[in-house]
Amino acid sequence: MSERVAAFECRMCGHCCLGEGGIVMSPLDRARLAAHLGLAPEDFLARYARRSDGKTYLRTGEDGYCVFFREGCSVHRAKPDICRAWPFFRGNLVDEASWEMAQDFCPGINPAAGHAEFVRQGLACLRAEGVLERAAGGGDECAAALRIPPGLGEDL
Ligand code: SF4
Ligand code: SF4
Repeated sequence: MSERVAAFECRMCGHCCLGEGGIVMSPLDRARLAAHLGLAPEDFLARYARRSDGKTYLRTGEDGYCVFFREGCSVHRAKPDICRAWPFFRGNLVDEASWEMAQDFCPGINPAAGHAEFVRQGLACLRAEGVLERAAGGGDECAAALRIPPGLGEDL
């Protein structure tokens, strides 16, 4: 398999911005978004967040999409790490069957690249975005999908 085959290229379909409950924000995510929007942290939380099970989530609008979805992400530079990481979530990285199922949801995942290449490129992307480092220090409020097992992909 050529390493130049892209394992993922976003098609901007918006599926991953639809639905309640998926977008967990760490304290760093909240601070970044509040600063981006020019809001005090408490005002950002009151307007755009909800708490559940000890975690903080982005709200959705009446259309079911994330409050920041406007035919694309309107806070792209400041979006939460879980949005930066998709589709390179823990489940899709450690489990080939999950990666296959994710292809039904996300048309940006390229099946032709193969799972090993998806893992290799995914880890490189997460490192480049700083997501792995932040998730490692994120504590209990970090999304479980960002907790990548140590040593994953070292043999690739
Ligand atoms: S579901 Fe996949 S292709 Fe669609 S917007 Fe999200 S990342 Fe991009
Ligand atoms: S913050 Fe942006 S990328 Fe994340 S769910 Fe909302 S609109 Fe989508």
